[in-house]
Amino acid sequence: MNCPSCRRELVKKKLEKFEIADCNFCKGLWIDSFTFDKLKEFESPFSPLLKINIWEDAEKHKVIPSSKSCPQCEKKLYKTEYADSHVHLDICPFCHGIWFDRGELEKVIAYIDKEISDETLSELFNELGEELKDFLIGQKSFEKEIKHVGLILKLVEYRVFSKFPLLQKLANSLPM
Ligand SMILES: [Zn+2]
Ligand SMILES: [Zn+2]
Repeated sequence: MNCPSCRRELVKKKLEKFEIADCNFCKGLWIDSFTFDKLKEFESPFSPLLKINIWEDAEKHKVIPSSKSCPQCEKKLYKTEYADSHVHLDICPFCHGIWFDRGELEKVIAYIDKEISDETLSELFNELGEELKDFLIGQKSFEKEIKHVGLILKLVEYRVFSKFPLLQKLANSLPM
């Protein structure tokens, strides 16, 4: 599986019981649909976090073809903004994987954190973001226990794919 940005081989990493693939060169990050599927079973005491409606205004969001291709199915990726965070993620409408350029996942986490008005939840979410950042930045923290990875991944997936029907429709109407 090659990096959609710089074409180098992606390296698979275990994140708790989830698997991600990242690029050691450009520091991008690929999360595939298999990982997201695992999240369906995911239970968390912090599930109120999942009720925040980031996609309130889904209709105003544009989906445009990306210059990158999916590392899994090699079809064209599509760019879409994560709510109004100014972060544009590359998404595969066929295999449902998501590509994060360097720093984008952290930005998405920071954005969700900002949107959380409940102070207790916000504090908690901040902690989760820090945990994940530690992991993504330093190889050393590989062994470090990350308690809330599932929740973070689920939040990202939930936000991105609640908008999926629109993305799918657009992808179908564009020439391949
Ligand atoms: Zn790369
Ligand atoms: Zn794909």
